[in-house]
Amino acid sequence: MNKMHVKVDDNVYVLRGKDAGKSGKVMAVFPKTGQVVVEGVNIVIKHQKAKSHLEQGGRIEQAGKISASNVMLVCPNCKKPSKTGSRFEEIDGETKKVRFCKACGSTISSIK
Ligand SMILES: [Zn+2]
Repeated sequence: MNKMHVKVDDNVYVLRGKDAGKSGKVMAVFPKTGQVVVEGVNIVIKHQKAKSHLEQGGRIEQAGKISASNVMLVCPNCKKPSKTGSRFEEIDGETKKVRFCKACGSTISSIK
């Protein structure tokens, strides 16, 4: 499994692609393919057929997968899209690997 630099619930900024400049919450990560799904980004419209004459067919807007290398984590502390590094910190008496923001130096969250 590839190590992902972002995880579910992270706020990320899109660097490349048709949604460059947008930011949103990570809804899913796919470590095998190195892809992520970000809320409101890479929207694809799926057409749904009406199942019966009582029901209307509809369009469902869904966020599509994008490459994780196209997104940057938005630091919850300085609110900027930031490069992250990892370091070890002692949390609750345990040494854990955590991510930190290279811009402001604050700890972001632990890596599972
Ligand atoms: Zn920061």
